[in-house]
Amino acid sequence: MSTATPLPPGPAATQGDALATPLPAAAPRRLRRALLWGALVALLVVAQTLLVALTLSYEESRAQEEADAAAAEAASEVRRNLLAVVQNLQALAWVEGAPGEARAAAEALLRTQRELKRVEWRAPSLTVTEAAQTPYLPRLFNTLPRAELSIDAELACNAARRSSAPTFSRSYFVPLQDGQGLEVIDLCLPLQRAGREAGFLVGSFALADLLESSITARNLRRHEISFVEGDGTRLARAGVPRGAGVYTAERVVDLPGATLQLRADSSAGRPSLIPNLATALVLGLSIALFGLVLLLARDVRRRAFAESALAEALAFRKAMEDSLSTGLRARDLRGAITYVNPAFCAMVGCSAEELFAPSRDRSAPYTPPYWPPEFAAEYHRRQQLRLGHEVAAAGANVADPRDPREGWETVFMRKNGERFPVMIYEAPLVDGQGRHTGWMSAVVDLSAQRRVEELSRQQQDRLQATARLATVGEMASLLSHELNQPLAAIASYASGSLNLMADPQMQADPEMPAMIRGALERMAEQAERAGRVIKSVHDFVRRREQLHETLAAERLFEAVLPLARLQARKSGTRIEIDLPPAGEGPSAAKSPRVRCDRTMVEQVLLNLARNALQAMEGHTPAAERVLTLRARQTHPRWVTVSVIDRGPGISAEVAARLFTPFFTTKPEGMGLGLSLCRTVIEQHGGALDHGPGPEGRGTEFRFTLPAAAPGGAAAPAHPPETGETSGSHATA
Ligand code: ADP
Repeated sequence: MSTATPLPPGPAATQGDALATPLPAAAPRRLRRALLWGALVALLVVAQTLLVALTLSYEESRAQEEADAAAAEAASEVRRNLLAVVQNLQALAWVEGAPGEARAAAEALLRTQRELKRVEWRAPSLTVTEAAQTPYLPRLFNTLPRAELSIDAELACNAARRSSAPTFSRSYFVPLQDGQGLEVIDLCLPLQRAGREAGFLVGSFALADLLESSITARNLRRHEISFVEGDGTRLARAGVPRGAGVYTAERVVDLPGATLQLRADSSAGRPSLIPNLATALVLGLSIALFGLVLLLARDVRRRAFAESALAEALAFRKAMEDSLSTGLRARDLRGAITYVNPAFCAMVGCSAEELFAPSRDRSAPYTPPYWPPEFAAEYHRRQQLRLGHEVAAAGANVADPRDPREGWETVFMRKNGERFPVMIYEAPLVDGQGRHTGWMSAVVDLSAQRRVEELSRQQQDRLQATARLATVGEMASLLSHELNQPLAAIASYASGSLNLMADPQMQADPEMPAMIRGALERMAEQAERAGRVIKSVHDFVRRREQLHETLAAERLFEAVLPLARLQARKSGTRIEIDLPPAGEGPSAAKSPRVRCDRTMVEQVLLNLARNALQAMEGHTPAAERVLTLRARQTHPRWVTVSVIDRGPGISAEVAARLFTPFFTTKPEGMGLGLSLCRTVIEQHGGALDHGPGPEGRGTEFRFTLPAAAPGGAAAPAHPPETGETSGSHATA
């Protein structure tokens, strides 16, 4: 039965979908911002449109209202004027007396009422009996006789007769000269004398003049006022030459017997898109406001960008400072701490608050909690120097603290009282205005490094000891070979002597005691020789006090010679010691004197000599095998020691890896010799190198050792350290 089940597609598909629509965190924010901007723009557009629309409608309704008011006012004025004239005419109807008297009164009335063009008296049969004309032009019925245009007046008079009240006629057109004409309306007043009908008084009004006299100057200026017929035909007009036909209003003027349709037509046309200055101003201001909002938004955006960049930079800086294992500390000009990073706090074991606290008391000089009390006075003095007042007087042994690359070593104290060495690199803190406000220091805890150095030194020592033992081990076969000879000799001398003593003939020989003594003496010699061999090995392995001592280079050679000779003798190699030729003075004859750890340098010499002997074995003809040990004072402070062979030399490939540990070309070699040699020589401050031998063949290994100072005192290998620095070493 198969246990394999296909994977359900669900989760994979879901995951795929999620991957297919990755929504970056910034997207919703951007969408929201776009929506906000859209809303703002829409709001502005709606507000502007509303503003324009409302202003337009307001303008329109205002113009319409004006037209309405003008029409209403004109209608009432016309009516009022007409009624006033009706009263005057009624007064005229009562004038009796001489026939000329009524006519004179009518002419007077015609002079004052300009719209009244003619007054006529008619008999009850409606024939005109008397008429008075306006003194002003144009005069009516000059072109066409009154009889031809009398029908409307007569109809009105008939109506007046029936109602016994003044009655208006329909308006009618009276042609004048030059094709002109006037629309006229007649008023017929029935006259009664002693209760009986006595005829009619008819007044003719020009509608145009009626309009002119009834309408206020303001209305005339802004509107065309006209009397119109039902179909819109204009009968008479006054006011601006033409109305625009947009805002019109009509009113009916009801008169006894007739009605007049009055129409006001405003001269104002449709308002333009921006109807007035206020709207233009509001529009302009809101566009400017929008522009301002845009600018502000841009500014805010830039600010936000700058802020986020700053925040990022700060976060980056904080992460950097927090991740540093180097302590950072800023101090003001007083030396009080103004900033520390976590590494510094961890190093000294104090919190930032504990480090800042002492700086609040400005009366006392600032003493950080990590200054060891025993050095506090000294540190205060150094701080004073660093303040720059006494740098000149500081003396030669005070390094300029303002060189940040150099750094200086000192001792700090942890909260638990543990002293530890630190390296301080300090640079001035300069603010935005270029003022020097303090110092920023990088503080490196050296205690771990010191521990590692100590460990490596101990390991180095152990390695040296092991290597020495290994060398001895390698020499064990040589040693056994070398010890074999004296032991074999002793054994043969001993058996010879025993044989002599056992031989009865010899027992009588008087020479025998002398012979046995001779054999014993040889045996003693051989035993001594064997002892010397063992002692030289013992000395080599056991002697180990790391002490630098001053000694002649010759002593070094002498120490390694017994062991070197063991091997040299085996291969038939000659060993030559080459020291400077004896000079004139007593000291010139001496070999150069060196200052070194004798045991270590002997080890180096032995290694080099062994390598040289091995190189010549099997390569150089036995007669030419020479190993030269040379010492020369090549410099007042340095002595050069050389080990020269006549071997095959060193090829470039071998030379490239010569000092690499465990590199060897020998089947039973360990490959440690040269690397150890170089370490030892460098620990002495010298150098180890190699080249072809002086005769152009073989190899020369050279190393330098510090020369002993004249007069026996040692010349120091390292420059002496300052008191402050060595203090810190002591602590570490
Ligand atoms: P080891 O002697 O155990 O091989 P060393 O570090 O002393 O280790 O030497 C490394 C190698 O350097 C040797 O195997 C040899 O090839 C080469 N070498 C050292 N001294 C000489 C010399 N005097 N002449 C030629 N080759 C040398």
